[in-house]
Amino acid sequence: MSLWKKSLTELSNLIRNKEVKPSEVVEAFAERTEQVEPKINSYITNLIDKAVEEAKEKDNQINQLDSIPPLFGLPIAIKDNISTKGIKTTCASKMLENYIPPYDATVIQKLKEQGYIITGKTNLDEFAMGSSTENSAFFTTKNPWDYSKVPGGSSGGSAASVGAGIVPASLGSDTGGSIRQPAAFCGVVGLKPTYGRVSRYGLVAFASSLDQIGTITRTVEDTALLMNVISGHDPKDSTSANQPTPDFTSFVGKDIKGLKIGLPKEFFIEGIDTTVKEKVLQAVNQLEKEGVEVVEVSMPTTKYAIEAYYIIAPSEASSNLARYDGVRYGYRASNYKDLEEMYSKTRDEGFGAEVKRRIMLGTYSLSSGYYDAYYLKAQKVRTLIYQEFMKVFQDVDILATPTTPDTAFGIGEKADDPIQMYLSDIFTVSVNMAGVPAISVPCGFKDGLPIGIQFIGKPFDEGKLIQVSHYYERLNDYYKTFPE
Ligand code: GLN
Repeated sequence: MSLWKKSLTELSNLIRNKEVKPSEVVEAFAERTEQVEPKINSYITNLIDKAVEEAKEKDNQINQLDSIPPLFGLPIAIKDNISTKGIKTTCASKMLENYIPPYDATVIQKLKEQGYIITGKTNLDEFAMGSSTENSAFFTTKNPWDYSKVPGGSSGGSAASVGAGIVPASLGSDTGGSIRQPAAFCGVVGLKPTYGRVSRYGLVAFASSLDQIGTITRTVEDTALLMNVISGHDPKDSTSANQPTPDFTSFVGKDIKGLKIGLPKEFFIEGIDTTVKEKVLQAVNQLEKEGVEVVEVSMPTTKYAIEAYYIIAPSEASSNLARYDGVRYGYRASNYKDLEEMYSKTRDEGFGAEVKRRIMLGTYSLSSGYYDAYYLKAQKVRTLIYQEFMKVFQDVDILATPTTPDTAFGIGEKADDPIQMYLSDIFTVSVNMAGVPAISVPCGFKDGLPIGIQFIGKPFDEGKLIQVSHYYERLNDYYKTFPE
């Protein structure tokens, strides 16, 4: 089998057993990249040629190591809102088009300690605001299964690159679904860890109470492998949790008999595509045959999640993005008569339409006189959502839902209709509001486009998500299927 079709775990074993060299691995992906990347445009900064050079150095280094770290010599792509020292980090915004961070995000530092090889910085919706990568200031990434469809977003480049097989794994960020939704659309595995599990030091902030870095991989085992490396407490991120990191790979291959899965009936509502619903229920059925108990549960606050999210996320964004004023970071307008005009022209020229819409929505929700009616009320709804999750988790181990109401939509189809675009997050946002972990795993196809099932877990119980989703994954062949 070609090396580019192998999983991160398989490649890791091959390198550690010295059956293949890092350069052979990276060269295989470089060749695949050369063929496929021009068709999908997943990278803003494509570093694959440099990666090949770096891999050759790793070929030599490997002989001097007493023990070879699991990710040594393995190529991984990074979403372009995660800071990489000396490498442009644009957030797909004109505002940061030429910004080169002077430091690495903690997750990057951890990957470097392993000896990983960066293949490039992947495309996203500007500042991670969107569900399709169409909000990138530079270009739209295409879905590797159908070039006329979006890859999802905002981590669209990270998901498309793994889906297309040009890289075995990538990092993304998820504020309201940005890892899980594109993973579902591109037929790969996407995990949003518990809020606080993975340090966000160096992740460019969108909505700080919701943002979380996570993984996109071909297999669930690869998710576990990568999570072992990037998780853990970080004093540089005050929201990072002081929790021990379990060995996530120890949950791979564990039996699932006796576990209890809840199906929240509000996630199987009218409006969801019938094939998507069918495939998700089929997956649950397969698990039931393997000995899990399935019960219906009710989560009535689900219907308020989108509204509350689209108050809270823009409010935090309006505050976080205030720093882009042309003084310290990035773009500055060239013609202005005074300071005030410099600020306003810089922001007018530097931000795209969706980012401006969010800044306006957020500023409005936070303004005196409206704060209580919008922001405060949304926060109360958020508390109810959290309490509802904690209540159902007294009865069940995990929840199963569709990741998205439908498969990947057409490029341009929802671009002019923000409400329709926002509604594609309907099954993912409540997870971020509650801060719990969730994973999307492929569960079938509709007209050649992938479908994802979402498993949601208790706080810091990613282990159980890995256990159940790995077990499910191995009942089918979807993880072995590549787009033509
Ligand atoms: N699509 C959602 C939004 O536009 C979520 C984005 C994300 O998770 N970064 O806000």
